[in-house]
Amino acid sequence: MGINGLAGLACKTPIRSAVRSDGSIAVDPMPNFKPMKDMVVHMDPFWDKYSRLKPYLQPADEDSAHERERRVSPEDMKKLVDVANCVMCATCYSLCPVVSVDPSFAGPAAIAYAYRFIEDVRDSKRKERSAQISDDYLWLCAHCYQCSYCPKHVDPQDRIIDTKRATIEEGLTEGRGPRHALVVAKTIKATGMLAETEVIQGTVGRFNIVGLVKVAPLGLRMAMKGKLPPMFLKPVPKVDEIRTIFDALEAPVA
Ligand code: SF4
Ligand code: SF4
Repeated sequence: MGINGLAGLACKTPIRSAVRSDGSIAVDPMPNFKPMKDMVVHMDPFWDKYSRLKPYLQPADEDSAHERERRVSPEDMKKLVDVANCVMCATCYSLCPVVSVDPSFAGPAAIAYAYRFIEDVRDSKRKERSAQISDDYLWLCAHCYQCSYCPKHVDPQDRIIDTKRATIEEGLTEGRGPRHALVVAKTIKATGMLAETEVIQGTVGRFNIVGLVKVAPLGLRMAMKGKLPPMFLKPVPKVDEIRTIFDALEAPVA
């Protein structure tokens, strides 16, 4: 619920930490949800987005083909342990500004849970799951980190980055979101700086004449104010060190 204007888990919040100097505590229903009564809210949109993920394992073969349980190595499990701790409290969802302006956005909890199955070695639907979460507006996330307050340390903001990376690995690079991410990475790796002209072209699409015509007025306004970014950038000194970081992270670039 909202506690003194901030979202939090009431069951984990000691009264003494919430009580204000005048002895009062303000409580509200969770933001981003329609109130039902008192503190109770309609959570259907949250659960709908969760159930769209098919939140259960879909292995390639039948369980009956296994005499024993499906084993996962400790290394593979390490990636999933934190996110599997999600208690679906919806705190992150209630904090997300993108959900508040565009309810079609899957939201942080659903994306983190999609990651939990995308990275599970027992599951066989990595590509389908990546496509599903991309269709649920994964790339609308603005990386504002508002959802970084998670009482179970799922860190949904970081799982969103991991999920975006997985969708790129699965070849889902057609939308504006992945094109933008890849071209930004490309220009920074090449020069150490953001080559804005190239980023605009790469995001809109070099051969997308209609799209480029639409952004042309912005370019003209920038030119008139003397703020047009240069067409070509000279790499910064020590750009090799930046490239080393990209290589170490195995970051995908356009
Ligand atoms: S990710 Fe964290 S804040 Fe979000 S629903 Fe799960 S436990 Fe709650
Ligand atoms: S980081 Fe993304 S998902 Fe999290 S609150 Fe911000 S916009 Fe929403």
